Amino acid sequence: MLLRQLTVRDFRNLVSLDLEIPEGGVVIIGENGQGKTNLLEAIYYLVLFRSMRGARDRELVRFGQPGFFVAGDADSRVQTGYQLSGRKKKVTVDGTEVFRLADAVGRFVAIPFSPDDREIISGGPALRRRFLDVLLSLCETGYLAQLTTFRAALKQRNAALRNGGQAEAAAFDGVFSSAAEFVLGARRRWVERWRKRYSELCSRLGEVGDSDIEYKPRSDSAATAAEIREELDRTKERDIASGSTTTGPHRHDLRLLLAGKSIRRFGSSGQQRTAATALRLLEAAVIRESTGTTPVGLYDDVFAELDEGRQRRLLDVIGDVLPGQAILAAPRDAEIPGELFERPRWSMTGGRIET
Ligand code: ATP
Ligand code: MG
Repeated sequence: MLLRQLTVRDFRNLVSLDLEIPEGGVVIIGENGQGKTNLLEAIYYLVLFRSMRGARDRELVRFGQPGFFVAGDADSRVQTGYQLSGRKKKVTVDGTEVFRLADAVGRFVAIPFSPDDREIISGGPALRRRFLDVLLSLCETGYLAQLTTFRAALKQRNAALRNGGQAEAAAFDGVFSSAAEFVLGARRRWVERWRKRYSELCSRLGEVGDSDIEYKPRSDSAATAAEIREELDRTKERDIASGSTTTGPHRHDLRLLLAGKSIRRFGSSGQQRTAATALRLLEAAVIRESTGTTPVGLYDDVFAELDEGRQRRLLDVIGDVLPGQAILAAPRDAEIPGELFERPRWSMTGGRIET
């Protein structure tokens, strides 16, 4: 997939950009705080119509402005605008307005690499679930729709529990259980199918111990809709007491292991970083193999702090797994490995690009 053209208006500190992106990609150099990450975030907005940093839409609007606009030409022209008044978001694909965002997700695909990715490993379970949910939404038909149904049922069930309505809460158990079965099944199959590849990617990046991923439900082993429903019945008292649904895929986790031990708990920061990079590369490999398109790579200062050996290894794996268009950002030339210099270089100051 190639991003040929990008238009941005009033997105964070980016006032107005109209860029022709070179086919082989580009290197963006700029001092701290100039808008490099904002530019990558604007590009990634075209993938999910949400911030890759988990920011709210209204935080993306340039201070003092009524809304933002981002559009890109890749396989199709994807265009999105957000207005603060009424919190309205509009998405069009090739000029046609899309009424369910799910229908536009995945029309443009990119993989965002960032030093913050380490939080996927070191942070709470929600970040790991999000990683998995985003990936499955991009490459498994029906996943996003089921996930959306699941979330809506969960929200309504929780609201009913908080209002003390046991019968009202139980009214959502059927929808909850069948959507949960789908979500859970897809996540488990994904882990089984890809754990070996994850381990290989870690080794290629220079990790010496054995790496592995496990899907980790909480205490429950429920898998089918009927079992999930039974579990809801069993935990009813607890749910009413806490005013929330205490069992289900929204409580599950992904465990990343190194030599049989949790990297989250015992890994060094370098090991956690390697694991996070491996997850991003795995994301690229999975999308490529399941959709047949090579995503655009968005690399936010990822070569910083890596010694030459690790840089070499990373470039090598990227060459195999994500050989397409690469958009790189860094504060200094020195942070970009030599062979990437062949790409055109742009400089960024105060949200403006000089080509
Ligand atoms: P670094 O090298 O430190 O990572 P960067 O070039 O990636 O820097 P960004 O994170 O892209 O920097 O941009 C940060 C700037 O964007 C900050 O100065 C911040 O004030 C500004 N900014 C963030 N959100 C908004 C917004 N909604 N409106 C206007 N400016 C914003
Ligand atoms: Mg940045």
